[in-house]
Amino acid sequence: MAIIGIDSLDPHLIVKHRERLPNLSQLIDESPTFIARSVWPVDTIPAWVSIYTGLRPSNHGLLYVYDVFDQGLSDLAKLDVTPIKGRTFWDYASQAGCRTVIIAPTLMYPAWKLNGIMVSKSPFETRVDWLSTSRAVSVYPEAIKDQYAIPNELLDLWGGFPGTKRLKEWATLGNTALETEKDLGLKLFKGEEWDVFFIFFSVLDLIQHRLWRFFDENDPTYPGKNSCSDIITDYYVSFDALIGEFMRARPQATFIVMSDHGHHMRPTKTINVNEYLRRHGFLVQQGKNTRLRDELRRLTLEAANKLNIEPPLIKLLARSKKMTQVGKSVYSSSGSIDREKSTAFLSTFAGIKSYSHGGIEINRELVSDIERSKITRELRKLFLELKTPQGDNAVACFKQREELQHGDHSEEIYPDLLFELESDFGVGWDLHSDLFGKAYDHNVASGGHFKVATFLITGTTKEAARNEISIVDTAPTILDLLGLNWREFRFDGRSIFR
Ligand SMILES: [Zn+2]
Repeated sequence: MAIIGIDSLDPHLIVKHRERLPNLSQLIDESPTFIARSVWPVDTIPAWVSIYTGLRPSNHGLLYVYDVFDQGLSDLAKLDVTPIKGRTFWDYASQAGCRTVIIAPTLMYPAWKLNGIMVSKSPFETRVDWLSTSRAVSVYPEAIKDQYAIPNELLDLWGGFPGTKRLKEWATLGNTALETEKDLGLKLFKGEEWDVFFIFFSVLDLIQHRLWRFFDENDPTYPGKNSCSDIITDYYVSFDALIGEFMRARPQATFIVMSDHGHHMRPTKTINVNEYLRRHGFLVQQGKNTRLRDELRRLTLEAANKLNIEPPLIKLLARSKKMTQVGKSVYSSSGSIDREKSTAFLSTFAGIKSYSHGGIEINRELVSDIERSKITRELRKLFLELKTPQGDNAVACFKQREELQHGDHSEEIYPDLLFELESDFGVGWDLHSDLFGKAYDHNVASGGHFKVATFLITGTTKEAARNEISIVDTAPTILDLLGLNWREFRFDGRSIFR
């Protein structure tokens, strides 16, 4: 069986552009499944690790969120994949005697020993210029490198914002990188014998993040028909053709085509959560002249947004680790929170971006267990009562960490309180400001992850046991398709078949 993993392949966009996507369209007709729930928070690394292991993030513990303030990926370097080795679907299949060929699984680097071949791409990029990066490649077994002329490094797209003027050039470069990866994948796909083949492609996520507002007519910053309008759809067409090439090369194989999450417009409006906490006495600012400082900060960010001068800012952040820390502190206002007097503040666990999900940390230095319950009750009431300027509810969901399904790593990865704003609002970080604001990052990252993923299967006569599926069900489903007893393994997910 073959699995093609495409980061951020959105099920709703597939349906919308179905007439241009013959292979995906055929898959929709044949597959017993289509839409799968992603993980929480909906982000690339926790989601793919959940796909590989069949465990929820709270049980695999690998949470990292890409954001503009970690260009050096210093926090990514803290993630340890050692506990994952030996616990992925390909390890289990490999241990059961299946021959596996695994190409470029997210974060799983360097390649490790298995019954078959593993080609890994480093999660750390070396920036070549302001458009491209290169990533080291690691291979198991070594001999495969010469046999398939696998290079030591692969070209990739720089994850930062290339600037509006160079967006098209940047997107074209992404096509070149995609072609190279596809060619390498097809060589191994055709040249090797395998029971399980997996290949992962990352580029579509970046393309959608940066180009969304040039493509989506409903985005308030959509500039009208422009030279970048068709790039996202063209990428879907390229991926559709790629899927067709793989399927035609092994017409008898069972295929899964899937993503980790979907994609949609990032909120343009924000709710300044720390400001809300400050107004209700939970958060205290330190120092004098805080109002003046916050006003300056706000004006600077607003001017940067209007003049579209984020690229220099992002470039500055990419060059200097120290600037990254300063930038993060200024952007999030975290530097001005008095931690000795504040009992609750926004958590950065989901990144400093204007997504609609977020979390609140309760300051355990100041708050006892008994007080924690009281504060939680007060905050829940406060958040669920919050109304938008139009008078609608602003918060869709507010939970205590303990209300999520408990996992081995829950306390490490999730803050005390978790919330989901109504989907057109993102988390804002302003202090001494209006309660409602605008997302400063929309011009550089207008697309954001959506909570449902694509999950298509063809080439099996098995019937799906239920309609509701999650990406966490992937690993047990693959083992089931291989005829292995998935119930013998520790999974949070279940096979989707009867
Ligand atoms: Zn992703």
